[in-house]
Amino acid sequence: MSAIRRREAQVSFVGAGPGDPELLTIRALQRLQSARVVLHDALVPREILGLVPPDVRLISVGKRAGRHSMPQDRINTLLVRLARRGHRLVRLKGGDPAIFGRLAEEVSALKEAGVSYEVVPGITAASAAAAATGISLTLRGKARRVQFVTGHAEDGSDFDPVASGLCDPHVTSAIYMARKAAPKIQAGLLSAGWSGEAQALIVGNAGRADEVQIRTRLDALSRSLAALPRETAVILLLGAAIRGETRERAKPLNVPTAVHCPFENMTVPGRSRVKIP
Ligand code: SAH
Repeated sequence: MSAIRRREAQVSFVGAGPGDPELLTIRALQRLQSARVVLHDALVPREILGLVPPDVRLISVGKRAGRHSMPQDRINTLLVRLARRGHRLVRLKGGDPAIFGRLAEEVSALKEAGVSYEVVPGITAASAAAAATGISLTLRGKARRVQFVTGHAEDGSDFDPVASGLCDPHVTSAIYMARKAAPKIQAGLLSAGWSGEAQALIVGNAGRADEVQIRTRLDALSRSLAALPRETAVILLLGAAIRGETRERAKPLNVPTAVHCPFENMTVPGRSRVKIP
């Protein structure tokens, strides 16, 4: 079974966007207003839950780093059970449901149970952060690729920024759940040849009233991130695009000629093409 149109769908996975109700899609709002039950994550703020009619049952299955209020398999079971009871069900997730939202696991449980579903996309944190800071995630000739990366290693192992593909400066990396990984990112990129002066952009609670923006040097990255309160949702942007410059930099990045980066034809500003082993 594949995702189908709303009229037939028993469950709607709805992207809540970054937290500002104005950044919801019209379809998301319609689904919230016609639901009988809404299961939502902790990241979804009160302003958005306030749009749900008062007679709708709200169930928090809140998940935040280190605080899993409901295990994933219980969420899956609950979704199936409520859908089978014939409730119009919305599964509300922060940002876009298809980005670090464990959508696949929930969809798989529904498919197994023969429950139909649809996905209503939302504005992901990377887009909200780009909009908030006024930068373009792509930049002609400077950033031809954008990647969404999680800083959260599933098996608890240390985050490796090089293996995670962060070290090509011509790629814009939007790093979700970057807090714990920040010292590794800083050290790993410095030892891969990035300059300590390279810029990083930290956006906390992007798109909300209490948004915080920090532009920092790479060598001060983990200190800057640590300054933000733990409850602030934080996204980190890295790469040449975040400088927002369309001209070549006057001063080249201080990088060695051989950078251990698993990309072919990688180029580093101020240097000729680097041959990757
Ligand atoms: N599906 C979500 C991501 C969920 S993972 C999306 O598409 O945005 C949770 C992580 O997303 C947080 O730890 C944080 O890194 C990031 N995040 C979510 N909302 C955010 C916001 N408003 N501002 C900054 N980062 C945010």
